[in-house]
Amino acid sequence: MEELDFENRIVSPTEIMGDNDSENPLRPRRLDDYIGQEKAKENLAIYIEAAKQRNESLDHVLLYGPPGLGKTTLSGIIANELGVSFRITSGPAIEKPGDLAAILTNLNEGDVLFIDEIHRISRAVEEILYPAMEDYAIDIVTGKGQMAASYHLPLPHFTLVGATTRAGQLTAPLRDRFGVTLRLELYSPEELAKIVTRSASILGISIEPDGALEIASRSRGTPRIANRMLKRVRDFAQVMSDGVITLDTARTALERLEIDELGLDSNDRRMLTAIVRFYRGGPVGLETLAAAIGEEAVTIEDVIEPYLMQIGFLNRTPRGRCITRAACLHLGIDLPDVQDGQIIFE
Ligand code: ADP
Repeated sequence: MEELDFENRIVSPTEIMGDNDSENPLRPRRLDDYIGQEKAKENLAIYIEAAKQRNESLDHVLLYGPPGLGKTTLSGIIANELGVSFRITSGPAIEKPGDLAAILTNLNEGDVLFIDEIHRISRAVEEILYPAMEDYAIDIVTGKGQMAASYHLPLPHFTLVGATTRAGQLTAPLRDRFGVTLRLELYSPEELAKIVTRSASILGISIEPDGALEIASRSRGTPRIANRMLKRVRDFAQVMSDGVITLDTARTALERLEIDELGLDSNDRRMLTAIVRFYRGGPVGLETLAAAIGEEAVTIEDVIEPYLMQIGFLNRTPRGRCITRAACLHLGIDLPDVQDGQIIFE
């Protein structure tokens, strides 16, 4: 079977070339401009206010949820609202304990240190992180044998914001050291329409409300995808409808990009179809499915599945993944009704 390209597709929630995220003008800078995630936002606003009133650093925060939902953005906002500096790194970028020690000793009082993909830090690095988070100190050992010396180095009171797509992969001691844990949810089409409208106004694009809603409903609950689609649809609007994104232009553009009304692209459709064709609708184990479609299991789990489960197209069972009746109806494929003597669809 042909390999799928989930990495560079327009509906990929991870960053791809052209997103230009480092100096992204579309990233909200204040909590008030951050659309949706009301529960997380309300709690965070209180914690930030309380920390400011006490003149203390904010407790360490763990943000988790699928890629592209605004974890990095929210961390930057935390730093902004606290009025402190924001430092960014990521789990895989911190190779040795010394790398982390260098970052920590360069922080100033109250600073926010953001570690993306924190579930990917090594054990050795994690060991340094424990006392740093708990006691604001690190112990550094220099030299070897008789020349070895250990230094206890106090650190400024900083706030660690960790982001992960999978909270379950964090070790318990690390998870326990976060005072605040916030789960980000996929966005509703209405929230995404607000994000699209806001982004359009920042980029100077004219968009009609139903055009924004059309892009929003095809964005898989993910702001990063919504912003990316907006930029692609703008190109079509420029050529087709005097630069204004109407419902019609949005529809035509997204159809040309082969993104259907639910935001599924040809890769999603092929994965779902494969479950029906090769595994009679499931259950099929994650690893088996990954091998069958030439994709990594983590990509399926983090990037593809959350949305398919949210819209009720895929079920995770202890025995593997099962496609649902709704997915078959959407794809227009025949329903396999029986497997191992059991009816698959409930
Ligand atoms: P993550 O770190 O979870 O992968 P990001 O914080 O990088 O996601 O967000 C991706 C993009 O989506 C950002 O560049 C920003 O423009 C946009 N975005 C995310 N969340 C929001 C939001 N709540 N309101 C407006 N725009 C958002």
